[in-house]
Amino acid sequence: MDIVNRLLSLGEFRDYVSTYDFGSLPANRLVIHHTWKPTRADWAGQRSINGLKAYYEGKGWGAGPHLFVADDGIWLFTPMRKDGIHAGTLNPRSIGIEVVGDYDHEVWSGQTKVNALGAIKTLMERLGIPQAQIFFHRDVSPKTCPGSAITKEWLFNELSNYQFKPSIPRVSTLGEVVASISAPVPEPTSSTNYVHVPAWATEAVKFVTDHQLFTVKNDEDIRDAVKFYRFYQLIKSQP
Ligand SMILES: [Zn+2]
Repeated sequence: MDIVNRLLSLGEFRDYVSTYDFGSLPANRLVIHHTWKPTRADWAGQRSINGLKAYYEGKGWGAGPHLFVADDGIWLFTPMRKDGIHAGTLNPRSIGIEVVGDYDHEVWSGQTKVNALGAIKTLMERLGIPQAQIFFHRDVSPKTCPGSAITKEWLFNELSNYQFKPSIPRVSTLGEVVASISAPVPEPTSSTNYVHVPAWATEAVKFVTDHQLFTVKNDEDIRDAVKFYRFYQLIKSQP
C-alpha cells in the first residue's frame, strides 16, 4: 500500500492543499471517522501510522483513509487524489478523515479539535464542498463512527464558529506564556497616594478591578493588570 506518510501542521496542510492536484475528478464529499482505537492517549505518531498501514495491508486493502488527525498534526495517508477505502459505498470521490480517539462519550478537544475542524474547513473551501456533502461513517454503517458524541448539529455549529488563527508560540509553562507577553512601563508618578492610570491601561485596570482580581496600587500593578488582561485576551482568542 502506498501512503504519503507525512505529518503536517494545520498551516502546512493549508499550504499543501492550496497547490495539491486533486485529479480530474476531485473528491466532492468528506467522510468523518474516529479511530476509536488507537485512542488519543495511545497515539504514537509514526509508530501508529506504521501499525495502521500494516493493519490495512493485512486486510488485503490497496488503500485506506486519507487523513489521520491527531494532537501532533495532520498525517497524510492515502493520497487525496485517489479513492480510499474507509466507508463502503461512500468511498468513491470522498476524502476519509480519521480523527484519532474514541468519541463515543466526549467531543473533540484541544489540538485534535483545532486540527480536525481546520482540516475539514480547508478541504470544504478548496473543493467547494457544501455541508450537505459531509458524511459520517455511521450514515452507511451500523458502527457509531465518528463517535456517538459527535453529531452533525454540533460539527456544523463548530465549523461555522471556527476561524483560522495564528498559533501562539509553543511554550511549556504558564510562566513562559506570561513572560512572553509585553506591557509598557508606566511613567513614574509623583503622588504617593494616587495612582495615575495612563489611557492605554484604563481598560485593563477596569477589568482587574471589576473582577476583583487585585487592587491597583502602584505602577507595577498597572503593568501587571495590562499583562493579565492581554493574557486573558490571548486565552479567550484560542478555540
Ligand atoms: Zn469509520
